[in-house]
Amino acid sequence: MRLIEPLRVTPGSKVRLPEDHDPAFVGGLDRQQDGPALLQEGIELLAEYQARLAAQDTHGVVVVLQALDAGGKDGMIRHVMSGVNPQGVKVVSFKVPSVAELNQDYLRRYQERLPARGEIGIFNRSHYEEVLVVRVHPENLIRQRLPAESREHDVWKRRYEAINDWEHYLSDNGFRFVKLFLNISKEEQRVRLLRRIDLPEHNWKFSPNDAHEREFWDAYQDAFSEMFTHTSTEWAPWYVIPADHKWFARVAAAGAIVHALAEIDPQYPVLSDDARRDLQAVKLQLESEAPPGTAPDPVEPETHSAAGNPHTEPT
Ligand code: AMP
Ligand code: MG
Repeated sequence: MRLIEPLRVTPGSKVRLPEDHDPAFVGGLDRQQDGPALLQEGIELLAEYQARLAAQDTHGVVVVLQALDAGGKDGMIRHVMSGVNPQGVKVVSFKVPSVAELNQDYLRRYQERLPARGEIGIFNRSHYEEVLVVRVHPENLIRQRLPAESREHDVWKRRYEAINDWEHYLSDNGFRFVKLFLNISKEEQRVRLLRRIDLPEHNWKFSPNDAHEREFWDAYQDAFSEMFTHTSTEWAPWYVIPADHKWFARVAAAGAIVHALAEIDPQYPVLSDDARRDLQAVKLQLESEAPPGTAPDPVEPETHSAAGNPHTEPT
């Protein structure tokens, strides 16, 4: 909580990048001393909460990951989610929209890939591209073939409102958004792009388009700033995660996701008396089927000790 609170964009506040957020911030922590232990703790808490989220099965979590090129989204997913059960997590990457997607309203492809109750969905890029890349490169908007009146009048403001409303509707339905922007400096991006060129096993990550997009750095900073100003809400706040130091970005991101899960506070369901009685009847039946000379219930001593504790991890 203490770590992530200053990274949260207060709803209604005006954000200006890069002035308001230092990409190299590490919250007074030391990489060697604090980094590994904090990340490990975050990963373990995530695993525990995710198991409970799945068991309770009433809420879903959508982690929105946005960054400029080389911001560290992929490494973030790999590290932060490393401890959770793969059955409970799905990662969805959004690329340039297909012809079929361009034939639909712009939010539909995101709606269709939301997580279910009990799941954590990670949006690697998200509906926010609709007010980022689409805004910085308006030819994207032309490709969406909106009617003229929807395209011309305050289109970005109306998109912010539509997105806020959509997220509000979903949070009302038990789906919680955790919105993370991995904030790197222009210099750190330069170094990371060079690494992709210099190290052969990293070459595949380099796209000549990344260098081209870099020329639009300032336009992106402006588009991000306006987006944070208008779409950080009480029900779905943004976190600007300082990302020049990957270890800190991962600790902070894990913290923000854990914080959202702690607010949901999912619990393992406790059986009703009726259901417990039904289980006992089946238990007697199974015990009666034990072959001669075997214990009727070889597991019993263990289940006895766990029986009173509904929080014991199911096997
Ligand atoms: P990457 O994540 O590096 O594989 O690249 C995906 C590309 O898809 C990026 O260049 C994004 O800007 C682009 N992209 C994602 N969503 C949209 C969108 N809604 N409209 C246009 N381009 C998009
Ligand atoms: Mg890329």
